[in-house]
Formats: sequence, structure tokens, C-alpha cells
Amino acid sequence: MALIVQKFGGTSVGDTDRIRAVANRIKAYYEHGHQLAVVVSAMGKTTDKLVDMAQQLNENPRARELDMLLATGEQVSIALLAMALDGLGVPAISFTGGQVGILTDTKHSSARIQEIDTSRVRPYLEERQVCIVAGFQGVDKESNITTLGRGGSDLTAVALAAALQADECEIFTDVDGVYTTDPNKVPTARKMKAIAYEEMLELARLGAGVLHSRSVEVASKYGIVIHVRSSFNNAEGTRVVPEDQVMEKVVVRGVTLKTDEARISVIDIPDRPGLAASLFNRLARADVNVDMIVQSSGKENQNTISFTVPRNTLRVTREVVDAFLAEQQAGSVEVDEKIATISAVGIGMKSHSGVAASMFDALAKNEINIEMISTSEIKITVAVKEEQGRKALEVVHDAFGLGDQPAQS
Ligand code: ADP
Ligand code: ASP
Ligand code: MG
Repeated sequence: MALIVQKFGGTSVGDTDRIRAVANRIKAYYEHGHQLAVVVSAMGKTTDKLVDMAQQLNENPRARELDMLLATGEQVSIALLAMALDGLGVPAISFTGGQVGILTDTKHSSARIQEIDTSRVRPYLEERQVCIVAGFQGVDKESNITTLGRGGSDLTAVALAAALQADECEIFTDVDGVYTTDPNKVPTARKMKAIAYEEMLELARLGAGVLHSRSVEVASKYGIVIHVRSSFNNAEGTRVVPEDQVMEKVVVRGVTLKTDEARISVIDIPDRPGLAASLFNRLARADVNVDMIVQSSGKENQNTISFTVPRNTLRVTREVVDAFLAEQQAGSVEVDEKIATISAVGIGMKSHSGVAASMFDALAKNEINIEMISTSEIKITVAVKEEQGRKALEVVHDAFGLGDQPAQS
């Protein structure tokens, strides 16, 4: 008998037929004698629809009220799944994030889990009731409902697996594993058997939406193996594991595309210690998530700093930059609203040179201009015009032999 945490994403519980299919799958596990905690997301596009409704009434809703609203999506699916299981003769009970003891900080819409008190669910698991848990939500110490950030049900599942010291954590989704890139964007993408935490974490941060990046962080910290697999078939998926357990050695493991980015260039500001600190501190205080940063020296004693931000934070970014420039009484600003970033990720890069050159060559051959570059030990990211993003993704994916043909060694 094992204690298994399973998570089913939005598409997997998209309608009542899908919920019934998920209930049948859970029933099969239950009949093997396992203890099961099952985390579910809101049905289909429910969360998007709720966001849209909120915005129809208020362009800038209060974060507390938005969390109150968004958390209702998961409450619908946990209750329906518990009912479906009950109908199949499997004892099940549903819990909201608060009821299951997920305590977070108060940062609405991107709250951090501080603690999970499992004492409420343990007895139910022990008497072999299937515990159905609402993903993506928790409560702060004043019992305000919080949410963990879009896609956060993955994090609920992994954090719960860690707190319960579960034997397995399975993430069921609408693809049958982690691929070399998004298979819905590049049809030649290949499924991997395994991927290292460090690589998955970078891919998730850089745009691979298949797992929430913080879920990978928590998995790595607590040594939880995540098995990403399809809720539509029984195929083995991809295991996210410690580096030494990945058998296939490659230089580049995967490639991602992030769209909906914007680039801001702060031009001709004085070349003086403290200016970059002042600008980026202001941005941090305004909660702007800055991604790539490039500084270049321009005319005498002047610099240009360019950086990328998520496009939906462009308005507040502009306000911050304008205030900064007004204070300096120097410089100007240029904005490119439509930027995409393409990243190649792999632990193998630590010991191989020439990866950047191959990537730049491939882009050049296809007449794709590189607007910005940033690198770290295990990744290379380039920014390009958004309309060239898809093409750039395909080209880079191909350049590293990641497609249907065997990957390079
Ligand atoms: P869920 O609702 O189950 O959480 P998501 O939509 O969040 O599902 O994540 C699954 C999606 O992630 C897939 O449909 C796929 O388009 C996308 N995806 C992006 N990058 C990858 C990748 N490298 N491998 C697999 N899927 C990916
Ligand atoms: N329902 C939430 C979202 O759409 C959380 C999740 O699906 O993981 O972002
Ligand atoms: Mg998801």
C-alpha cells in the first residue's frame, strides 16, 4: 500500500464526462489498496472566465477579492469529483485549501505556502477515504483566502506530497509528459523519460507551462519525484528527478518560447554608480518582475539599460521609469511592446562550449534578428520580435537535434 498524491489539471476535469473518467481512474488506484490525496484544478477555462468577469466590473480589482473569486473555481471541481467517486462506491471527501491546512503568507495572487498542517486529512487517509483537495489556494493567518499564482495547483500537489511524505506524486495533464518543447507548438517535439530538477526549473521559469516553477523548486528541496503523465491514457510519462538519475546525456535538454513580453530601453542616462540600483529598486517595489537586463555604454559617460517585463506590467513599468527619468532630469525611454524570448536549457552546457554559437547561427540563417541575449551556466536566452517567436523556437529546437531525430550526445 502506498500513499499517492495525484493532481488533475483543468482540461482533465473540463466537463462532467472528464470528471467521471478521472473518478474511474482514481477508483482503479483505490482498489489496489492505496491511500490517495487528489488535488484538482478548476474545470477547463473557469479561472480565465472568472478573471474576465472581474475585469468587466473593475479593471483593477482588489487582490483579496480576486482571490476570493478565483478560489471558487476549484471548489466546484472538488465537490463534483467527490460526488462522482461516491457514485462509484469509493468513499471520498473534499477539502478547500484552508480546510486542508495550507497556510500561506498574505501576498494575494502569488501567495507562498508557509506550512501545511496535515492533521485534519491524515485520519481520513488512514481510514481510506479519498481526500480531494482544491488546488491553487490556501489561507493566510487571518483566514483570508489566498491563491498561489496561475497554474498553482501543481504546487499544491507537490507541497502536499512533501508534507504527507507521500510515496509518489503524479501530475496528470493533457500531454503525456514533458517534451523537448511545447508539442502543441512544435509537432516534432520528443517526450523525455526523465529530466533533472534544475533543468525543469529553468524550463518552467522560461515558459514551459507544463509545470509551475515553484512546484519544481519544492520537489527538488524535498526530494519528491514528480511523474508528469496524461489523464487521457495510461502511458508512462516523464519523471522529474535528481540529476544523477537522468540516463540520457544531452547538451540541450529543451527549448522554450515566452511571448507576451515587452522591452523597455532607458536611453542615455548618466554612467554613475547607484543609478541602476535606484531604477531596479523602484521596479521591485512596484512588484514588476524584470527578466533580461542588458546595459550598453553609449555616448560619453552615458549608458543605455534595456530590460524585458511581462507585457501586462508595462503600464506600471512605464510609470516607474518616467518617475525615475524625471528625477534624473536626463535620458529618454523607448518601448517595444511585442517581444518574445527563446531559451535553450541543459545541464550539459556546463561542460560544453559552442552552444550559443550554434543557436545564433541557426537564427541568423533564418534571418531572425537577435534583440537581446542573456546566459547562465545552464541556459541561453535570446529576445526576438514577437512575430518571429514561433519560427525562432522551431529553428532552435531543430538546431540542437531535439526533434524526432535522435538528440545529440
Ligand atoms: P493543466 O491544466 O493540466 O495544468 P497546463 O495547460 O497547465 O495543463 O499544462 C499542459 C500544457 O503545457 C500542454 O498542453 C502544453 O501545451 C504545454 N507545454 C509547454 N511546454 C511543454 C513541454 N515542454 N512539454 C509538455 N507540455 C508543454
Ligand atoms: N485554476 C488555476 C489556473 O487556471 C490553477 C491551476 O489550474 O493550476 O491558473
Ligand atoms: Mg498547469
